[in-house]
Amino acid sequence: MSRYWSALVRELKPYVPGEQPRIPDLVKLNTNENPYGPSPRALAAIAAEAGDDLRLYPDPEATALRETLARYHGVRPEQVFVGNGSDEVLAHAFAALLKHERPLLFPDITYSFYPVYCRLFGIGFEAVPLDEGFGLRTADYVRQAGAIILPNPNAPTGVALPRAEIEALLRVQPDVPVVIDEAYVDFGGESAIPLIAKHPNLLVVQTMSKSRALAGLRVGYAIGDAALIEGLVRVKDSFNSYPLARTSQAGAIASVEDDAYFQDRRAAVIASRTRMEAELRRLGFEVLPSAANFVFARHPEHEGATLAKALRERAVLVRHFAAPRISDHLRITVGTDRQINRLIAALEEIL
Ligand SMILES: *Cc1c(COP(=O)(O)O)cnc(C)c1O
Repeated sequence: MSRYWSALVRELKPYVPGEQPRIPDLVKLNTNENPYGPSPRALAAIAAEAGDDLRLYPDPEATALRETLARYHGVRPEQVFVGNGSDEVLAHAFAALLKHERPLLFPDITYSFYPVYCRLFGIGFEAVPLDEGFGLRTADYVRQAGAIILPNPNAPTGVALPRAEIEALLRVQPDVPVVIDEAYVDFGGESAIPLIAKHPNLLVVQTMSKSRALAGLRVGYAIGDAALIEGLVRVKDSFNSYPLARTSQAGAIASVEDDAYFQDRRAAVIASRTRMEAELRRLGFEVLPSAANFVFARHPEHEGATLAKALRERAVLVRHFAAPRISDHLRITVGTDRQINRLIAALEEIL
């Protein structure tokens, strides 16, 4: 606390990201990073871009990247917005689309950045409880609201809604902006992007951090009606005109163009998830059905915090949230076969 702080800063409750510690031989399953590296073609494109041209500003509109993403997703470039990680894209969406007289709705158990943005931007919100099994009932969102944001698959539960459910929600809420945060969709969810043509209030946000193994490059994007995208651009150009480095734009384009690598690695993560779920169940864990690159699990006889601590002592890092309803759960990122073996061996020892 400093007397030089603004009133706004005094009121903030910042997001706490998963730790990035330096522990030798660490099995890092706490921040949903991809256990495999990025596409070699992306790495080559980044290296090729790291030359004399870095003295020049990058394309402020990231035209080539937006064209590549538009082609990939079957939309027009004016329907694509890119930002410095999807966290930044989401921040701009909160400022541009989600601040209204009526409250913003999102689940009570969800990405914990949402309430942080609400405080930063002065947005009133209501947390809508998930059901007993951490399922999301879209019917609960059929009420007076200023806007809606949902992750699909949800985080930290990993539970996905079928596209038809999102469509049903859009049909009954045509007059408020609806943002679907699809950070994990490539691991088994159904994207809402095909609904954009019929629903001008829908914005879909995706990231290259998880399924494309580029968390360190910081590239996220949004797809929606061109008028929604224009709103995001207005905020972006009032904040930072050059959010994406030259290297980020080049690497992101090459990653999207290397579809064979992308398909191969996401299939590998999905297969490992199936094995990880089975192993955890064998040890007595209750595991939620996951469509993401992590699982959300609890052991009926052990406290979540105790398990997380015991794992950490064995150099296995998982994420634990000291929050109501989920304090006995662990969110565990799907790792390589070797990492999963280390996790399971450590748990066998602890239990
Ligand atoms: C990881 C994550 C993001 C942000 O990812 P970026 O690295 O900023 O692109 C957004 N939403 C959810 C639900 C996430 O888990």
